[in-house]
Amino acid sequence: MTTIHLENLVKRFGAFTALKTMDLEIRNGEFMALLGPSGCGKSTTMNMIAGMESPSEGRITFDGRDMNGVAMGKRGVGFVFQNYAIFTHMSVYDNLAYGLKVRGLAPTEVDRRVKAMADFLQLSPMLEKPSAKLSVNILQRLAIGRSAIVEPAIFLLDEPLSNVDAAFRAVMRTELKHLQREFRQTMVYVTHDQLEAMTMADRIAVMDHGVLQQVGTPLEVYNDPVNLFVAGFIGSPGMNLIDGTLAESDRGLVVDLGAMGVSVPLDADLAATARAHGVQEVVYGFRPERVVLAQAGAGLAMPVTFIERIGARTVVHFGDGDRRVKAVFDNNLAVSVGETAYVALEPGGARLFDRASGTAIRGA
Ligand code: ATP
Repeated sequence: MTTIHLENLVKRFGAFTALKTMDLEIRNGEFMALLGPSGCGKSTTMNMIAGMESPSEGRITFDGRDMNGVAMGKRGVGFVFQNYAIFTHMSVYDNLAYGLKVRGLAPTEVDRRVKAMADFLQLSPMLEKPSAKLSVNILQRLAIGRSAIVEPAIFLLDEPLSNVDAAFRAVMRTELKHLQREFRQTMVYVTHDQLEAMTMADRIAVMDHGVLQQVGTPLEVYNDPVNLFVAGFIGSPGMNLIDGTLAESDRGLVVDLGAMGVSVPLDADLAATARAHGVQEVVYGFRPERVVLAQAGAGLAMPVTFIERIGARTVVHFGDGDRRVKAVFDNNLAVSVGETAYVALEPGGARLFDRASGTAIRGA
């Protein structure tokens, strides 16, 4: 278990800056996900933690020890990549045993730990099989086991599930979380898949274009995104984001939603924060999960344009052009394309962003 501290970390490749001044503390025993779209600098950050790349500026410390110049093999990190790196000429048993033998453990201890790890990862029935004969799913599970078995203080995983099939990915999400709970390693997990980050991580570091956007628990980044990027990126679908203008009215401070053809009042707290902030041009945001259907005439009348039924959830698209809202309901919703529905928002569901800067308007 180790605390990892990234301090003013910058990485340049020639004239291109892949990572811009990143400051992040990954706590002892924490499961931190680095989440963001392709090319945002996740792997670059991970490679610097592992010791495969050197920072252009700033430093990385493990429990206060500066890692600058410390080789990968001396950092006490286990690393699993998207492409499993295992010895295909060896059996499953020998792959698991390899790291323990290299470290000089007694054969009985090697055997005990190999069997325990195989049991944990459901590899016991295939211990004697040659690895070359295994499916991609099992190979990736073996790769995780091979790194985890030496119980590194820090476990780094870079998109380890992107090559495995969807059903197996769901199983592995649970197993990886169990693995981390069992060994209490500090875990850093790179992914562009928010479902993986939301389900496994204690905290998520959301990145975009080489810039750390927000660090928080899954619920914090979902409920209170710090800017428009996080609001749109987190959630499936992301937050509804509608341009609006703040104006005083006899209902207090309202947001004129322009193309939507409606002005909506703000809760007292949000109105006070917005007044203190002093901007007028805003983006009004609300989660699709916070949309409710109102009685005829009570909410905003919108045509149902598209319905996606995804198992337990139904995503309904209302309106078109500049007048669009997405909503998520449970699967027994009785609406059909073409009909008009009345859309309203649960109390407390609204968020405001400064349109010019993109940052959230919220209290201290
Ligand atoms: P992905 O999931 O696609 O790998 P990522 O968020 O992990 O995305 P990085 O691999 O960290 O992104 O890359 C960040 C940026 O740095 C990209 O634009 C990439 O092209 C660039 N980059 C990464 N490694 C190098 C390198 N060795 N030389 C030049 N540019 C690089």
